[in-house]
Amino acid sequence: MKNIIFIAPPAAGKGTQSDLLKENLGYVHISTGDLLRELDKESPLGKEVNALIEAGKFVSDEIVLELLKEKLLTLTKDDHFILDGYPRNLNQAKSLDGLLKEINKSLDCVIELEVPYDTCLKRAIGREICPNCHKAYNTFFKKPKTEGICDSCGTALEHRSDDTEETFKTRFDTYVENTKPLIDYYQEQNKLVKVDGVNDTYEKIVGVVK
Ligand SMILES: [Zn+2]
Repeated sequence: MKNIIFIAPPAAGKGTQSDLLKENLGYVHISTGDLLRELDKESPLGKEVNALIEAGKFVSDEIVLELLKEKLLTLTKDDHFILDGYPRNLNQAKSLDGLLKEINKSLDCVIELEVPYDTCLKRAIGREICPNCHKAYNTFFKKPKTEGICDSCGTALEHRSDDTEETFKTRFDTYVENTKPLIDYYQEQNKLVKVDGVNDTYEKIVGVVK
């Protein structure tokens, strides 16, 4: 199996695919956001990171790379990873390559999930969830039998998106702008694989990573 990264627009289903790979193929999902959140808050690094986050500042790449290194070093030869949240730009991609080389690991494949803008938009703004049984719905794709009511338990659904059409468009445009250099970079390394993110996505991903 391959060590992978997903590149995907907002609401393209990256989280769902990562969860499936984790459950079915035993992938280790490494989210840099989780690594920061799970830091021991009493440790020197934990205190430093907390202070930065509370001040609304960015955590430096050096810190994130250090955490990533520690985490990657816990993996055995048989473990394979999905890296999530890093790299977000070209500099980070280069730092990551340096780190992986240093610890003798590799990134084998970068999967770009291709989902049309309109589909992402509807997935994002139509998202609804049951606060009681956590069943997920979508007002465009997966409507409950009665509008606004959970099929399973009858609880009123919560609309789970802060996005309006306008804010979503901004998020999407930012994604396209930021990831273009990353996509080019991995294409040059022959690591980029484009996967249809709408139909039989999971099956297609398994075909790529196995
Ligand atoms: Zn429910």
